[in-house]
Amino acid sequence: MQLSKRIYEDYLKKSRLSYYEHLLYYAKERGYMMTGVLGFYRMLQDHDFDFTKGKKVKVLINRHDIDTSPKVAYQMFQIEQMVYGKQGSTTYYFRNSTVDKKIIKEIEQYGYETGYHYEEIADYEKEHRIKNKELLFEHLPQIREKFLNDLESYRSLTETQSLSIASHGDFINTKYQMQNTLILEDESTRQKSGIEVEAYDESMTKYIEARFADQMLLEKFYGEVIRAMRQEISVIMILTHPRNWKVDIIANTKENLKRAIQGSKYRF
Ligand SMILES: [Zn+2]
Repeated sequence: MQLSKRIYEDYLKKSRLSYYEHLLYYAKERGYMMTGVLGFYRMLQDHDFDFTKGKKVKVLINRHDIDTSPKVAYQMFQIEQMVYGKQGSTTYYFRNSTVDKKIIKEIEQYGYETGYHYEEIADYEKEHRIKNKELLFEHLPQIREKFLNDLESYRSLTETQSLSIASHGDFINTKYQMQNTLILEDESTRQKSGIEVEAYDESMTKYIEARFADQMLLEKFYGEVIRAMRQEISVIMILTHPRNWKVDIIANTKENLKRAIQGSKYRF
């Protein structure tokens, strides 16, 4: 992203939260049920709807990756409570750096979902600086070990089960073309983790007909999602990040500084 655009996005833009609210009201009016990632996965497991029989179902899978600002995430949660209340659900994935125990507890108690937003490949590389894709690949056993330990710590810190998790994308993942989902491409690690579903699991994503991510679309996001609903697309997933909806100066500055420091320490 251009610097001027980044400055606008992180410090100057007006809140877009009213668009988020409109979007949810529109979904509800159009008859979309709103569910989290785990909720959708369980519906598939329970054969709650059978896509092959042409039964028209309308599902909005609502996923949030809390890369920054649990504060703005909480405001999105409040909007969801207002619009769908307990008739709906969403998923909030927290990184180690954005865990907010109080907010997580409140979301869980309300009956919505939370889970671990993991980034162990990037974390491991930043710590060990292997700087070589093949070598980094050979370190996967250690990375998997680290992931299992981190997941355990996340669960005990947040007092949640985190049965669903989602991979976070970092500049390291882009550089080496290695997504964190590689960690789970190992039967034993997956079993030990005790998770039910990873947000990128093909067994689930193959049922998603349209996916919209706010970091790609920014201000176009709202219009694109509305259009998909108008077309009555059956299963839609939206992925949002707090940073794209409302300015949180402290959280954005913290993240920008962290990124700058990591970037300067880590030379390719
Ligand atoms: Zn992320």
